[in-house]
Amino acid sequence: MGTLMSNERPFTERIIRPEILAQTSYHVPNASNMVKLDAMENPYGLPDALKAQLGAHLAQVALNRYPVPSYRVLKQKICQQFGVPAGFDVILGNGSDELISMLSAACAKPGATVLAPIPTFVMYALSAQLAGVQFVGVPLQTDLSLDIPAMLEAIEQHRPSLLYLANPNNPTGSWIPEDQLIQLIHAMADIGLVVVDEAYQPFAPASMMSRLPEFANLIVMRTVSKLGLAGLRLGYMSASNSLLAEFDKVRPPYNVNVLTQAAMEFLLDHMLIFNEQAAQICLERSALVLALQKLPNVQVYPSAANFVLMRVPNAEQVFNRLVEHQILVKNVSKMHRLLNNCLRITVGTAAEIQLFIHALRDS
Ligand SMILES: *Cc1c(COP(=O)(O)O)cnc(C)c1O
Repeated sequence: MGTLMSNERPFTERIIRPEILAQTSYHVPNASNMVKLDAMENPYGLPDALKAQLGAHLAQVALNRYPVPSYRVLKQKICQQFGVPAGFDVILGNGSDELISMLSAACAKPGATVLAPIPTFVMYALSAQLAGVQFVGVPLQTDLSLDIPAMLEAIEQHRPSLLYLANPNNPTGSWIPEDQLIQLIHAMADIGLVVVDEAYQPFAPASMMSRLPEFANLIVMRTVSKLGLAGLRLGYMSASNSLLAEFDKVRPPYNVNVLTQAAMEFLLDHMLIFNEQAAQICLERSALVLALQKLPNVQVYPSAANFVLMRVPNAEQVFNRLVEHQILVKNVSKMHRLLNNCLRITVGTAAEIQLFIHALRDS
């Protein structure tokens, strides 16, 4: 026992893959008693009557049974409610995080590459690394829009199996116009798959979902997290049936649990509430941007998502001052040089935004 203990570290290092040892685990700060503007959560919650109905519905669920892994009813409802084109199906994930892992696992041939503009959602790179796949990031331009010539060059050079395009992008909020998306999808046509990650679709001006039939190499990925159901952990993606059939082989058969399944089936009949909340969040986003534009020393970037990126003279100082006011935002300064002194602010309620602006003026 004693020898085991004293050798614990080297033993770990012998067994665990070096790329895992080198990683730090995903850090989530303690947010108790804080105004939470750090994680793109919907601030509104559900009306009490609906909560009670949902509770009664969930009480009927057979917790002793495994889920039926086809998830047929849930998928049909998702296809109907979220505009999946006729003849197309979806595959479900335990959050879109799991869908990203499934894509990495399915495409992780020796020598394969995953490409994405950077800075972007960190899970693309993380998941590629976990699957033993090379990740190549192409920096955005200084205005945080895509560098199309650099993207096209990287596609030619690396011939990636997967190209991720978060639209709108996290953490910048920037929107990729349709002509640029289509240019990249064409450039990838004989090379690999383009994953358009529409996690923020409820707050965005358009979607590629209806264009799926036009492009054999297009995958559209979404989640219900930012819509107001982050705790449910449910993501979905659509693509040609032949692609979905392959991804389904790497999906753990019971990956969506029965409570998530039942809750989502129920809530899909109440989408009006979520759509109204999303519309309200878009209104508050405009108010937040307007208030920030009035402040000296604050540069605000346009956003098509439920958060706003801003640049200040000293992000760490502003972040700490906000914490003193019990307001938690995300300091993304260290993510990439393009985000130097940037903070990402989730659009909260009108009252939360007022507290935030007040605290910001104070700092
Ligand atoms: C938040 C986010 C996701 C994660 O979604 P989950 O379904 O909660 O795992 C995916 N993509 C982007 C770009 C995001 O910002």
